[in-house]
Amino acid sequence: MNHPAINSDRLWSEIMESSQFGQAAGGGITRRALTEPDVQARNWLIEKMRQAGLEVRIDDAMNVIGTLKAKSPRSKKAGAMGSHFDTVPNGGRFDGILGVLAALECARTFNEHGIDLPWDLEVISFCDEEAGYNAGTIGSRAMMGLLQDGEIYLSKGKEGPTFADNLKRLGKDPENIYRAKRDPSDLVFFLELHIEQGRVLENAEKQIGVVTAIVGIYRYVVTVRGEAAHAGTTPMHLRQDALVEAAPMFTMLPAWVVERNPDMVGTIGQVKVEPGATNVVPGECTFIVELRSQLPEDMQAVRDRLFEYCSKRSGWDVKKIYEKDSVQLSAPMIDIISAAAGEGKLNWMAMPSGAGHDAQTLAPSVPTGMIFVPCRGGISHSPREWIEPQNAADGCQVLFNTVQAIAEKKSITMW
Ligand SMILES: [Zn+2]
Repeated sequence: MNHPAINSDRLWSEIMESSQFGQAAGGGITRRALTEPDVQARNWLIEKMRQAGLEVRIDDAMNVIGTLKAKSPRSKKAGAMGSHFDTVPNGGRFDGILGVLAALECARTFNEHGIDLPWDLEVISFCDEEAGYNAGTIGSRAMMGLLQDGEIYLSKGKEGPTFADNLKRLGKDPENIYRAKRDPSDLVFFLELHIEQGRVLENAEKQIGVVTAIVGIYRYVVTVRGEAAHAGTTPMHLRQDALVEAAPMFTMLPAWVVERNPDMVGTIGQVKVEPGATNVVPGECTFIVELRSQLPEDMQAVRDRLFEYCSKRSGWDVKKIYEKDSVQLSAPMIDIISAAAGEGKLNWMAMPSGAGHDAQTLAPSVPTGMIFVPCRGGISHSPREWIEPQNAADGCQVLFNTVQAIAEKKSITMW
């Protein structure tokens, strides 16, 4: 198939331009969803979409949706591409942004070349993928009707504005967020281009990763209670030091994980000690346990072990934050993306994603594909996150070729 080339210079300059919104003191970007930098960035994006000839709407979950209308549609459904525009604190220029701006570049290329698609083509910038408030992927879950009751009223660390507070500030009624739900069968497909955020592609010297599955993530909060006491006057044998009581778990959990399956991962990445002073024996220790695997049974096994351990010890309490199982991406979509990469003479490999993405939310109900490009040293969620312009161009061209290949299929209901 003959594919027009996307404009790689334009894509790159837009990626660089978008990094002006939310520049952080640490050299990265802090663009939490619904904050001022996010509002500025979305206004910029909306303007770009309009200039590209897209019709733009913002749904009740603050997802930005730009649509390239089909001139003679053969279906009422729409094809969709996208990712997210929010970042973690002091994050990078590419995580999420690449997927949105590459989708925009693809839509613009279709428009400029007058290629008539059988369905409307949407460019979606999902709101709050990065857990700026609570659990993340708020926008994509709202669209798929997967929000949990009341979760937009919760805030990270029990303080600061909630997602609902900021919706109100921006003139949206939080209760309307449920109206962002769409019928999944209205979408022919969803495609997300993203940086890998790991070093598998770089190590294998591949230009494209075709994602086969996205790992599941289970998270729990464990609280260990002891007794706060004066660090100078309380003898060792009279202490109930919550941190010391909790400490064995920090090495035990990784051991349980490896024992169960060397391919799964488990992390305790957040530990809080109360009252948290040099001269006070810790009275309470709270930590988050995170498990990731493609196999739910592995995560369940480690979870059960954790719960059993906690139940047998006094002062220990464990609560589920959430459990999200892995999802397989659409097999026909994997074939089409691989073919598109091969056609472009790019070295590609099939691989699972160890990070969660908006694609994960859509995959159970919409034929979904995901394309990875390498990022330098696998570094992400950091000011040092970097890709080469060629990586952006390759990923965007594969995205474009994939959409065109789907459009050329005789039957768009093949799935
Ligand atoms: Zn991302």
